[in-house]
Amino acid sequence: MVKPSTAAVEGIPPRPLPMSPEAATAPDPQKLAPELLGWYDRHRRSLPWRARPGERPDPYRVWLSEIMLQQTTVTTVSAFFDRFVARFPSVEALAAASLDEVLHAWQGLGYYARARNLHRCARAIVAEHGGHFPDTVEGLRELPGIGAYTAAAIAAIAFDRKAAAVDGNVERVMARLFALETPLPAAKSEIRALAETLVPDARCGDFAQALMDLGASLCTPRSPQCILCPWQSACRGRALGIAETLPRRRARPEKPTRRGFAYWAVRPDGSVLLRKRPENGLLGGMMEVPSTEWREAAVDEAIARQQAPVKAAWVRLPGTVRHTFTHFHLELTVLAGETATGAKAEGQWVPLDRLSDQALPTAIKKIVNHALGVARRSRSRRAPSR
Ligand code: SF4
Repeated sequence: MVKPSTAAVEGIPPRPLPMSPEAATAPDPQKLAPELLGWYDRHRRSLPWRARPGERPDPYRVWLSEIMLQQTTVTTVSAFFDRFVARFPSVEALAAASLDEVLHAWQGLGYYARARNLHRCARAIVAEHGGHFPDTVEGLRELPGIGAYTAAAIAAIAFDRKAAAVDGNVERVMARLFALETPLPAAKSEIRALAETLVPDARCGDFAQALMDLGASLCTPRSPQCILCPWQSACRGRALGIAETLPRRRARPEKPTRRGFAYWAVRPDGSVLLRKRPENGLLGGMMEVPSTEWREAAVDEAIARQQAPVKAAWVRLPGTVRHTFTHFHLELTVLAGETATGAKAEGQWVPLDRLSDQALPTAIKKIVNHALGVARRSRSRRAPSR
């Protein structure tokens, strides 16, 4: 086996050999915050929701960005944020809007439970707090849709409170910095306790954002760029040569697949049948193409035909529609049928060219695209060739 060399090669700094666990000393919390803040002052990301140096952060923008970023990437939120704020410029404007308007404006971000909670939260802030965000972790946690991480992030960034905002990125940085080998999620409480020891007395908001930037730009899941990291000399995971393998994780169980039938019902005037999902639960309050229950056991097609929301001569479309949610895969077969004008139906008829006005989640848009794609292909096969 070839031993790693410590010699520098043409400008490439030598990679240190891993130390023994005894030789790699624990990081000194007193030095870590100043090192990270110094790096942040030089390399902070410029983001649409972030206050510039010297500017006072706007709690509304901080809150919005934290909710949007919960399950969506910075790139997607960056392209979306200004448009949303232009439509709802203040917490009062958001509270005054209808839920349908908010869900519609949220299209493209997914995880619509966040939008419903956002709306409830805006109304609670206006009704119970005179339009002002509570400025403590405890006060923020009482609001709808604000969990431990989000409360800490808002308290730190918007109000400079001494709070540790620990999300997946920060867990990774902490696990590496302290070389924690306990797998997640068991390591969560230990990581939180360690993160709390690092928060400085001043510039708490900058520290929280610096940690986010470090996790996003240098201490990335694969190939961390330790050579550029302000904590490179303190990092125990790096010294031991195990940084990239951390954090350890308990193996995740496989996601189950749920199946069902969707009904693509079209009226002679070209309108399509949609219905509203129940307010609570997955995709709550969103419009959908009607479907059977989604479940793991196979759904019998004959029963699906009996359960159709409107009378029609149903034809099974070729192929299936697949979508993956957080906890399961979804596989839907589409039954398409043309109905008579005035046929009694459970739902609401929407003209095809008005579908884009509806708050349709991505999974449902896939059904629409599938049905329209099959119809288009079948028309082009029937068209006489020239
Ligand atoms: Fe992450 Fe490397 Fe920095 Fe350690 S030195 S915190 S592993 S980027």
